[in-house]
Amino acid sequence: MPQPVALIVEDETEIAELVQFHLEREGISAQSVRSGRKALDVVRHAKPDVILLDLMLPDLDGLEVCRRLKQDRETRDVPVVMLTARGAESDIVAGIEMGADDYVTKPFSPRVLLARVRAVLRRNQAPGADGNPDRRTLLDGRLVIDAARHAITVDGSPADFTVTEFALLEFLAQKPGFVRTRDQIIAAVHGRSTVLSPRTVDVHVTAVRRKLGPLGDAIETVRGVGYRFSEEAPASAVPPTA
Ligand code: CA
Repeated sequence: MPQPVALIVEDETEIAELVQFHLEREGISAQSVRSGRKALDVVRHAKPDVILLDLMLPDLDGLEVCRRLKQDRETRDVPVVMLTARGAESDIVAGIEMGADDYVTKPFSPRVLLARVRAVLRRNQAPGADGNPDRRTLLDGRLVIDAARHAITVDGSPADFTVTEFALLEFLAQKPGFVRTRDQIIAAVHGRSTVLSPRTVDVHVTAVRRKLGPLGDAIETVRGVGYRFSEEAPASAVPPTA
């Protein structure tokens, strides 16, 4: 893979320089701009591999920048990692619903920042390399979701899911590593089963976790934001003995 290119959109020079320093040390080439309009301008001319987007910007705020990027066919595939203030869950929810791929809260640790950037770059490299879109093998091969047959297998054993639970798990597992908000889950399940409320989403998630048995922790709670399906089997899930 050639050297990835990142665009940092941040008006606070110190933070921009810090982010740039850590990315470049990891072999990611980085450029920074200080305003939302400038960011849109740069992205139109040379698409970066990832955008680190501060939400509080002087001219066009980060949510609006994200909305415009995700609406444009040319730029919607560029992953966006939001830089947000700690405790700004409503901003995070709005950003994810606008199409942002992930977020890092400030002040951030370099380790977390790089993990998020690496993860979105990796996910963008191999979108659904699975072959048959109806049958997906996840969590190191331990979970199989067969949409055509409406069947779920956990560690080789069939598991009994309701229509709602199936739709919910299928939606979360479509994009491992991505945070999904409750409203996104409600929208995805809508039309396939009963209408859910944000509270009943939590109830169904609990049921899905239980039915996933040792893999239940693969559905992570992202406090104040929603849920994330993990990219690997959770550390707590001891593989079945042969
Ligand atoms: Ca700012």
